[in-house]
Amino acid sequence: MADLDSFRAEARAWLEANCPPEMRLPLKDDDDRCWGGRKAVFKSPAQKLWMERMAARGWTVPEWPTQYGGGGLSREEAKVLRDEMRKIGARSPLDSFGIWMLGPALLRYGTEAQKQEYLPPIVRGEIRWCQGYSEPGSGSDLASLQTKAEDKGDHFLVNGQKVWTSYADKADWIFCLVRTDPNAKKHEGISFILFDMESPGVSTRPITLISGKSPFCETFFDNVEVPKDRVVGELNKGWDVAKHLLTHEREMISNMGMDMGSIGRMAARLAGEDGTGPILRGDMARFDVDAMAFRLAIERTGDMAKAGQAHPALSSVLKYYGAQLNKRRFELLMSAGGADALEWEGERSNEGQAARTWLRTKANSIEGGTDEVQLNIIAKRLLNLPGA
Ligand SMILES: Cc1cc2nc3c(=O)[nH]c(=O)nc-3n(C[C@H](O)[C@H](O)[C@H](O)COP(=O)(O)OP(=O)(O)OC[C@H]3O[C@@H](n4cnc5c(N)ncnc54)[C@H](O)[C@@H]3O)c2cc1C
Repeated sequence: MADLDSFRAEARAWLEANCPPEMRLPLKDDDDRCWGGRKAVFKSPAQKLWMERMAARGWTVPEWPTQYGGGGLSREEAKVLRDEMRKIGARSPLDSFGIWMLGPALLRYGTEAQKQEYLPPIVRGEIRWCQGYSEPGSGSDLASLQTKAEDKGDHFLVNGQKVWTSYADKADWIFCLVRTDPNAKKHEGISFILFDMESPGVSTRPITLISGKSPFCETFFDNVEVPKDRVVGELNKGWDVAKHLLTHEREMISNMGMDMGSIGRMAARLAGEDGTGPILRGDMARFDVDAMAFRLAIERTGDMAKAGQAHPALSSVLKYYGAQLNKRRFELLMSAGGADALEWEGERSNEGQAARTWLRTKANSIEGGTDEVQLNIIAKRLLNLPGA
């Protein structure tokens, strides 16, 4: 405990000295998020400085081992760091599919050379990754994917199409599921590979959504050559890597909105102190209690995972409930904001940020596997229900 106390004091002093005041203000919109990458566009010098300072300490990924650039913190120390960041309202220094998804898969399945090559640039925010899983005919039934990688001796030749590839047009590299054995059963002929989005033959086409903004792309591969050492895990055993990555993706999605603080404060920012009546305030209080309990459930599941006691299907429980909670959060906010919150454009509404985010939350129960798919997993793996 004494060690944790001194770590807390050290972290607090360092954050106080190093977190620029601008990086302690709530996010105004998605453009305030820092994604890094070769094509990074920083919204302000403070945003760049904050990412670089945290990366230099490995605190963009506090729990990864120091030999791969991470902070080397224990789970308890990382919790203290998050706690101290929350107290001063510090923003996440770096949002990244590399941190949330690829990194944990590499730590478990990557070779030493792959870890050395790919993890440090993720920590430093130098390479931005996107996820090539879904295809036009393969979403929930992901294992039916058809993008193929043919063995050409010293390389694979990749052909096919992915869809809903978030930020594919901004990403530097892709982690991608491909079929390497067309004759095997569908789960057994898949491999997990990595390649540069600037490779000849890769192209992307943005998809526009109801919110008017689109992170999504269709992604096409036309005779893309991929060196053979870019396979993560065993050839044709990519489904294991894919599933491990999905548990991390689902946990990340379950956390959405959890750093936004109390719903009352959010509503006050949107609608003014007295914008809500007693019934809505009651709903908000119930929401805050549920969110607090959910935060504890996330912490407990994390502790169980660290101790090797968490069932992999628990990530489906968190994902399902987290998605419901985030949708509820924004339904309540829209109720508090009334008709004004629906404003779509203009300075007063910060370019319709509340309405756009509200619509965006509808996708929480689709991305990373739909609600129905999570309920199927829970029924089958956790509850052992007959017929599931
Ligand atoms: C915001 C967002 C970001 C995304 N980002 C990415 C990304 O970066 N990379 C990527 O590869 N993909 C991404 N996706 C795609 C996502 O993984 C798929 O949308 C998801 O897996 C569902 O697949 P689908 O859209 O093909 O729906 P379908 O699989 O066609 O499902 C349609 C409906 O049928 C239901 N259904 C399907 N099968 C069953 C079943 N067995 N039992 C009961 N109901 C069933 C589903 O629940 C759903 O309601 C993203 C999606 C969203 C919304």
